Amino acid sequence: MNDHRPAPATAATPVGSAGAHGSGHGAEAEAIRRFRERLGLAALIDVHTHFMPDRVLHKVWNYFDTNGPLIGDLEWPITYRKEEAERTALLRSFGVRSFTSMLYPHKPGMAAWLNAWAADFAGRTPDCLHTATLFPEPGVETYVRAAVEAGARVFKAHVQVGAYDPADELLDGAWGLLAEAGIPVVIHCGSGPAPGKYTGPGPVGRVLARHPGLRLVVAHMGMPEYEEFTGLAERYPEVRLDTTMAFTDFTERFMPFPPRALPRIAALGDRVLLGSDFPNIPYPYVHQLHALERLELGDEWLRAVCHDNAARLFGL
Ligand SMILES: [Zn+2]
Repeated sequence: MNDHRPAPATAATPVGSAGAHGSGHGAEAEAIRRFRERLGLAALIDVHTHFMPDRVLHKVWNYFDTNGPLIGDLEWPITYRKEEAERTALLRSFGVRSFTSMLYPHKPGMAAWLNAWAADFAGRTPDCLHTATLFPEPGVETYVRAAVEAGARVFKAHVQVGAYDPADELLDGAWGLLAEAGIPVVIHCGSGPAPGKYTGPGPVGRVLARHPGLRLVVAHMGMPEYEEFTGLAERYPEVRLDTTMAFTDFTERFMPFPPRALPRIAALGDRVLLGSDFPNIPYPYVHQLHALERLELGDEWLRAVCHDNAARLFGL
């Protein structure tokens, strides 16, 4: 396993790479502590981490291992392939004080079961923001309402894996309910790492036209349609972007962020949120932080992205 592959050191990664020495992730936790301390941040908040029933997570890992169709021939070693308790302990050792349990169905009849698991997980994991999901199917509004009443604080929608149109009228009531409740929805709707029938800014744009107050958090900065999704965030004040996997060496190789769009991202500094995709990432966690740092958008921007914006959004 590639547990300790260090992030490539460059002049723009001043706090050094982690995991280069010793065993375990102690060196990485130390590098993350230095990153936080330099910024004066006591903690991080990560809005995009995956916790799901073991059976489902192992299927996801197997998908990456066997190069499922959405990832093609990319080599994608999972850095944090560990038991659940070890994964939560690792996030805590990294100083992540709040995280999520992003989970999502790929077919009908699965979301309510996932939501039951996620409610239980949040119940036994106080630093996890209670997460829920949805799918266009009869009854969706009922189980979304039940999840909200049970205390769900964030939803996850995966347009690519679910292969559905987010503007499907079956979802209209659920989007309305979530908009009214002000509950953020982290949505994978960009066409990376591979396009789906309903990925891209068009379908999500139609959802926002009907529900302009919906708090969509566009995952992965909308990769690879970075500029189009940035445009949606500029147009709709409740739309946010999460940084998940964006700007990393891994992603820059095949879906580089256009430098000309950086000033727009700087201007949206109050609506960009740290996300990582932990544990399913092919590099150490600290590399995501260094990848944000080397954008050189300033320490104030970094503090907002890595902690303050999510703290405000979730009232933490
Ligand atoms: Zn993800």
